[in-house]
Amino acid sequence: MSGRLRTLLAGLLLLAVAALTGLLFHDNPGRAALSMGPLGSLDGPLPAIVLGAFLIGVFSTLLLIGLRRLTRGAFAFRGERRHRRHEAAQRLRDEGIERLWSGQTPAGARLLERAVERRPDDLEAALALADALLQLGENERAQRVLHDAQAVLGPLPRLLARRADLQEAASNRGAAVESCREAFHRLPSSPHLLGRLAGLLAAEGQFEEAIEFARRRIAAEPVAPRRQAAREAWLTLRYRAACAAPDGAETRQLFGKILAESQSFLPAQIALADQMSRAGDRRGAERILGDAARREPVGIVLERLRKIATETSSDAACKRLRDVVARAPGPVPKLFLARALAAAGQADAAAEQLSGVDASEALAPECELVAGEIAKVRGLETAAAMHFQRAATGPHLAFGYRCGSCGRIEADWRDACGCGRFGSYDLICASPSTSVAEASARR
Ligand SMILES: [Zn+2]
Repeated sequence: MSGRLRTLLAGLLLLAVAALTGLLFHDNPGRAALSMGPLGSLDGPLPAIVLGAFLIGVFSTLLLIGLRRLTRGAFAFRGERRHRRHEAAQRLRDEGIERLWSGQTPAGARLLERAVERRPDDLEAALALADALLQLGENERAQRVLHDAQAVLGPLPRLLARRADLQEAASNRGAAVESCREAFHRLPSSPHLLGRLAGLLAAEGQFEEAIEFARRRIAAEPVAPRRQAAREAWLTLRYRAACAAPDGAETRQLFGKILAESQSFLPAQIALADQMSRAGDRRGAERILGDAARREPVGIVLERLRKIATETSSDAACKRLRDVVARAPGPVPKLFLARALAAAGQADAAAEQLSGVDASEALAPECELVAGEIAKVRGLETAAAMHFQRAATGPHLAFGYRCGSCGRIEADWRDACGCGRFGSYDLICASPSTSVAEASARR
């Protein structure tokens, strides 16, 4: 309602009251007595009594309106003050996070500490402060910050998951599992928590439960690429569980099941072939490796086939390697055959294979090594020593392996890399993506 209209209405009301009072005085000239109970009685002209009662009503109403406005004002003032305090804490938090991002960790931590002091219920500030303290190597203090935040905010899944990270970093894996479990119970649909819980349980050696959580994560992932990654993680866990089990028919069955679902899971192929070899089933091992080499003749498969051929010195094993080499493209399989033939004492056949290999710079150390082994078989010790020396001073590690994910180089093949990838190692000389100089620098 506009001010002008309100004034007009108030004026009209006053006029009506004045007219009504005048009319009452005119029509009721006599006096009246109004009994007030224990307060006695009020004696006066009737219109004056009516007008008095009316004015008391108006005054009471105005008083009530005034009181209500006053209370509202007090509340609004307190709200405004709280809002300003929150805004100041938020500014501190944002500035603290900005400092962290720009690498000024101690300054960022100090600002975030002030932000958390002002607003202990700010989850973002508590998480950022914990991160800052962790960067400064103060894991215990970081854990205390999250513990205090939990006391104020309750067991929020994000808070619990971060606590699990810090507990794991402090090698307190049991507590980390518990925190992660609690977070999971509050948010059972989270693929992240399912994956974390599976990883923590596997690290504790509780593979059965870990595999179950990893399996549930596949269904929980919303998009196809992440579902694929979850499936790989599930297979990897099953592989680790099989590796942790003792050799035996049951364990070989576990590897077999993994391969039935993912034929190209190289670590499982190698582990199964190795177990079969150890159990005396060399033919079975050769079959597994032969199948793997036909799909993709990667270095470790050729290495294992060559090892069997060398150990048994049997023509059958050499023949299987020869079959694989005949079908496989590139010079690397030929080198493995030449090496196996040399180890079997067939120097001429080995030299013939080697002569068919293009001794490019990428393969030079491997070629020198095999030439040295052939010379040794022929009893040419000086020539063998010369070749071995050249192989050792070549541009890279002969028959060395490199992780395709992080570039780490090892002399022998490994099923897993420190970067977390499984089956990522392949021969340096078989990876055209890496220059020889780069491989040499990482050696
Ligand atoms: Zn790696």
